[in-house]
Amino acid sequence: MRRKRVIGNWKMNGSLAANRALLEELLPQLAVLEGVELAVCPPFPYLAQVAARLEGSGVALGAQNLNVADKGAFTGEVGAGMLRELGCHYVLVGHSERRSLYGEGDEVVAEKFATALRAGLVPVLCVGETQAQRRQGQTEQVVSAQLQAVLRRSGVQGLAAGLIAYEPVWAIGTGETASPEQAQAVHRHIRALLAQHDPVQAEAMPILYGGSVKADNAAALFAQPDIDGGLIGGASLEAAAFAAICQAA
Ligand code: PGA
Repeated sequence: MRRKRVIGNWKMNGSLAANRALLEELLPQLAVLEGVELAVCPPFPYLAQVAARLEGSGVALGAQNLNVADKGAFTGEVGAGMLRELGCHYVLVGHSERRSLYGEGDEVVAEKFATALRAGLVPVLCVGETQAQRRQGQTEQVVSAQLQAVLRRSGVQGLAAGLIAYEPVWAIGTGETASPEQAQAVHRHIRALLAQHDPVQAEAMPILYGGSVKADNAAALFAQPDIDGGLIGGASLEAAAFAAICQAA
């Protein structure tokens, strides 16, 4: 039995005051939930603030990106050791915005995944197809290639030490959610691909769905047999909506 997980991805949003207000309203609502693993991923500058506020709350901290180098002359970048020191448990890798806006290809993403593992972080590997790729019937092929890069680099053991988030690019921030059936079909495909390498690990692997998850569609998505929770963008910035999504898990 896989535990459900809900991770909030704040993206480049927030301020000291807004974060304080959000967490003040949110954390009491999450405190009563049992059996769900919860996390939020604020922007780098707020990690320390949010870490302090999350202490004792049962909600974990995550980052949105990392560099593959430990330290050195990489202006503007952040290393895995720094994230660990600030209390991060998770780190997103290969989010579609990183892939499309910052040119991160499958190999870079695989290297970031391996770096996170080495540092003792739990990488959340984001995969997903664009609208054009779906129209051309390439969804499974694209998602498979994204997974294969990590499998080649870290092996199935390594992949299984992280999480997977299926996030169809056309559903991210668009208000257009994959239907529960569309999402389930891809989740099943991902699990089947992993099962070719290791059926036990495949069964245990948490696969989250992301892309316009809202309070009113979360329950139907999370009820699918291969959907183990969600990676939530926009709705994670509203306490009531995020709490309702966590409750649905
Ligand atoms: P969204 O974003 O919930 O705003 O669609 C999800 C994500 O990008 O992780």
